[in-house]
Amino acid sequence: MHQMTLAEIARGLADKKFSSEELTKVLLARITQLDPQLNSFISLTEELALEQAKAADARRASGESGALLGAPIAHKDLFCTQGIRTSCGSKMLDNFKAPYDATVVAKLAAAGAVTLGKTNMDEFAMGSANESSWYGAVKNPWNLEHVPGGSSGGSAAAVAARLLPAATATDTGGSIRQPAAFTNLTGLKPTYGRVSRWGMIAYASSLDQGGPLARTAEDCAILLQGMAGFDPNDSTSIDEPVPDYSASLGDSLQGLRIGVPKEYFSAGLDPRIAELIQNSIQQLQKLGAVIKEISLPNMQHAIPAYYVIAPAEASSNLSRFDGVRFGHRCENPANLIDLYKRSRGEGFGAEVQRRIMVGAYALSAGYYDAYYLKAQKIRRLVKNDFMAAFNEVDIILGPTTPNPAWKLGAKNSDPVAAYLEDVYTITANLAGLPGLSMPAGFVDGLPVGVQLLAPYFQEGRLLNVAHQYQLNTDWHTRTPTGF
Ligand code: GLN
Repeated sequence: MHQMTLAEIARGLADKKFSSEELTKVLLARITQLDPQLNSFISLTEELALEQAKAADARRASGESGALLGAPIAHKDLFCTQGIRTSCGSKMLDNFKAPYDATVVAKLAAAGAVTLGKTNMDEFAMGSANESSWYGAVKNPWNLEHVPGGSSGGSAAAVAARLLPAATATDTGGSIRQPAAFTNLTGLKPTYGRVSRWGMIAYASSLDQGGPLARTAEDCAILLQGMAGFDPNDSTSIDEPVPDYSASLGDSLQGLRIGVPKEYFSAGLDPRIAELIQNSIQQLQKLGAVIKEISLPNMQHAIPAYYVIAPAEASSNLSRFDGVRFGHRCENPANLIDLYKRSRGEGFGAEVQRRIMVGAYALSAGYYDAYYLKAQKIRRLVKNDFMAAFNEVDIILGPTTPNPAWKLGAKNSDPVAAYLEDVYTITANLAGLPGLSMPAGFVDGLPVGVQLLAPYFQEGRLLNVAHQYQLNTDWHTRTPTGF
């Protein structure tokens, strides 16, 4: 039962082959049995899950239908869930029970999805390895000595290990696509503004975007359908109609123009990954796509720009965690300043503190123009490169990451080494574009992802290309040994 995709579950439920309650019990038992190896969950919500499953079964019995009605999922632990701990992977929020549901959580619950729990993540979504969580590192089900990627590593490890079919995640600089690549999943970062950020604890507000992590493009389409849409509570949500993402999955790729940036194949890319990317290009050519070499000349400046902008926004967003209104408060503060200092010093981990310092520095008088403003200018150049490229091609294709998942601890002493791994993903966030990662093969038993980028609001095109690719390849069907 645990091997079923969301689409298969939807058919099984519609055909009354099993109930949502039965399926939910099987998956909860599986999580209890197998998750101790992975540490992919921070909280399990068994009672809520069984309640929601029974309610979904009752709705079906009374004639309702829907692809998400009775479908078991989990939420990355930065989506606020009413009355349930929403920790953001931080000691700071270990005791925080959200007073309301995030829009994404409310929308999926209304569609009948069943919440099995909250998944582990890098603290405040800062990281690429899921090692900065206060709740401990998450392990990669493909090799327990390796990281699952981050910051949505819990969602990714859980879905890859077949503990559940799909989960929500967020992507500020790659945190949906990179863990998807590291765990053999399909993950989609939508256009900035496509999915509401209301109730999603902010890391870098101008970059953060929620999206689906699942095993197939077909399942990403189902989950995105439930997440996307205008939300008056989010001032950056865009009032654009939501297309039927499943309806365009079957479109032909004949004549599709795929751009491959020459900058993507530079020295930093593992040659074994380069070869797998070439294979996926050939596969898409067989399906009718036309390949064109393009250039994204400002790509080399994206990492430094991102690692100024994201920490700058984070330093501002995280100022609300002051020991007064939310979360951790130190014992016996001597005065107000002592309360702030010790609450934040105790509540935030090392990587979060580092980013707050970098961000506050970049925003301070005298440095603002030199760092923050400069970074914003680079951001515009990165966007312009994409706009020019999309005049010539429909999709941009390349690797999701320069290397496969590294060993736990391998990059802990050198944060910049980890930052450099984001080279292919962060440009889409800087430009606000949608991006998808899908399985493309294996290197030393570890999964490799191929990334597709599309113009604004062309999530349907990304899902269509990925679905057609998956109809003709079987990488996405591989299961990690032991799961
Ligand atoms: N690795 C990037 C960072 O650490 C991206 C994280 C994310 O997308 N949340 O900022």
